[in-house]
Amino acid sequence: MNLQTDEEKALIESAYREMLASCQKTLSTNDISQIHRAFNLANEAHKGVRRKSGEPYILHPIAVARIVSAEIGLGTKSIISSILHDVVEDTDYTIEDMERLFGSKIASIIDGLTKINADVFDANSSKQAENFRKIILTLADDIRVILIKLADRLHNMRTLSSMPIDKQMKIASETIYLYAPLAHRLGLYAIKSELEDLSLKYRYPEIYQDISEKLNATEKRRIQQINHFSLPIIQKLEENEIKFEISGRPKSIYSIWKKMQNKNVSFEEIYDLLAIRIIFEPYPHIPEKTQCWNIYSIITDIYKPKPDRLRDWISTPKANGYEALHCTVMGDQGQWVEVQIRSRRMDEIAERGFAAHWKYKEMDTSNQEHELDRWIKRIKETLENTQENALEFLDEFKLNLFASEIAAFTPKGEIRSLPKGATVLDFAYDIHTEIGDHAIGAKVNHKLVPLSHVLSGGDQVEVITAASHRPTPNMLEFVTTAKAKAKIKDALRADAKLQADSGRVQFEKICRQHNVEPNRNDMLQELMATYSTATIDELHTLLGLNRISPDRVSRIVKKYSPNSGGFMRSIFGSNKNTAGKSKTSERSPYIAASCCSPLPGDEVVGVRSADNLIVVHKATCPECIRLMAQYGDRIVPIKWSGQEQLQYLTRVEIKGIDRMGMINDITGVITRQFTVNISKFHIENNDGVFVGYVELYIQDSRHLKALISNLQQIKGIDSVRRMDAPSD
Ligand code: MN
Repeated sequence: MNLQTDEEKALIESAYREMLASCQKTLSTNDISQIHRAFNLANEAHKGVRRKSGEPYILHPIAVARIVSAEIGLGTKSIISSILHDVVEDTDYTIEDMERLFGSKIASIIDGLTKINADVFDANSSKQAENFRKIILTLADDIRVILIKLADRLHNMRTLSSMPIDKQMKIASETIYLYAPLAHRLGLYAIKSELEDLSLKYRYPEIYQDISEKLNATEKRRIQQINHFSLPIIQKLEENEIKFEISGRPKSIYSIWKKMQNKNVSFEEIYDLLAIRIIFEPYPHIPEKTQCWNIYSIITDIYKPKPDRLRDWISTPKANGYEALHCTVMGDQGQWVEVQIRSRRMDEIAERGFAAHWKYKEMDTSNQEHELDRWIKRIKETLENTQENALEFLDEFKLNLFASEIAAFTPKGEIRSLPKGATVLDFAYDIHTEIGDHAIGAKVNHKLVPLSHVLSGGDQVEVITAASHRPTPNMLEFVTTAKAKAKIKDALRADAKLQADSGRVQFEKICRQHNVEPNRNDMLQELMATYSTATIDELHTLLGLNRISPDRVSRIVKKYSPNSGGFMRSIFGSNKNTAGKSKTSERSPYIAASCCSPLPGDEVVGVRSADNLIVVHKATCPECIRLMAQYGDRIVPIKWSGQEQLQYLTRVEIKGIDRMGMINDITGVITRQFTVNISKFHIENNDGVFVGYVELYIQDSRHLKALISNLQQIKGIDSVRRMDAPSD
């Protein structure tokens, strides 16, 4: 057995002391003695167990507790739960032991964490989605479970290098797919960007390395520029007797990479790498908002602001509680600099999110329900009574995770907050399921509109209902909230069940007439093939809805009647199935994903499909990230090897000022200089400015880059960029 060496004992002891010392909250002696009890128990329970890296296991729960206390700012119960978070999962202790030793609250947090843990590394995708679902469900229970889970994930990401590569890819994909957005939604900015950076580091080590080297190489110059830029601001703020801190803020590696991808530019072309943050100590009795704008006014007296880059998150905070004033101004050397202005309180909320938010909420006397409370409440509602399968549920939830919000009013002036893009029907379901199920239209600001009408912030909405109305499948197309979708599906399912029941009764009657068993397999096969249904339930439903003629069904059933010879034919028919299958083995094992059309030379990743093909996606493809997170065991790390002979259809967008001969010049470059085949050329002229799309077959991304740069040199061309996924 591997026992702890003296050296390890000292290491564990000092990690534990440091964790206690880093705690943001002041701990009472009672708190400390309880934490101590938890530590002794966990240390004893995990004794002799090591992590993949070889270090004693107990260092992991200590590190999680440290993140929870120092970086998220949670208190004693959360620290204890963190220390004990793997004890029930990995040792002989039970939840009952935890309850007996540490009380019911801590036991229920540990129980939540253990349940989430259970199948993290399960290869089965639906189980994995189910696991995600459990994580989200816990939001409704005790948010501390989620916060500790995030800390657990963060520490696992920090120590991911000791895992095998496919596990790294899987864990990193899950992280970017779910955990980083979740951290963002809960307002934990620092944790969110660290998760993003670490995920990038393991998914695409070369890209990560490249950007971080470039950042390091330019750091010195950036610091000089920031210092030069900040100097006059510091002087003015001091003259105005404002107490403040100012800091240069490097953009995260992930956000730089995102920008390079989205704008299709190189590292050198990103202009807003410079950013500073001003955190001030507010004067009492003057609204913080006023003080923010005062600082804004001081800064813009010195530097010219970029008008379209002003972001006021003070008058309307973000849905995750974020408050700040952002502006971009031009420094005296012609460079753009982003300036963030925040009070001390706003800064704490921005960095520590939920925990800080609650702390200030307790101090807030206005007793107003915060956006975040509303969001959690809505999640709870969504989770009630939904029968979605786990994967569908997860996709829905993801959509809601990113949505920004608008506020609409009921006729009585009650505020409902909804994701941007929400329609009248979303609003109806938000108020009540009954109202949604029977809604036929609405008056928005006293004008009649259809259910599909998209709401704007500040709209007053009066829903019109009709008792006889029921949801129809097309309604799914014009709702955006998970709640409305789930409720419409519930209603459709309930209706379908009714129709299927009545159809089944009809069908059984027909079978009785012809003296045929209603579950006779060959007959059902023929019926399903005739009406192209996947299940017999669907067939019943069609019959119940009168979509198919009972007479025709009766004729088919009759063939299987004992006094008819017709069934021989259908037996022969079933032979066909086996013929098609042998073809699969001749196919190439790799195909390019249609969602992102990767080219040789692009950063790519492979995902094994259900029929054993390896589908190649671009590294940035959101569909691919989703697949990797949900089907982690199917990731195939791949790279292009040398020159691929195939050509790839790709689409290039060209913008510029139209002139005589422009089209000629463009096609000239493409066909003469590059001898590539144009498959489509579409151009639109709008008052002298044109936008065009060219679809062409090209060998690899290096050729494409050369082509783009040659096109850019044509006179009058403003921008040329590669578009993903040629449509139709
Ligand atoms: Mn853990």
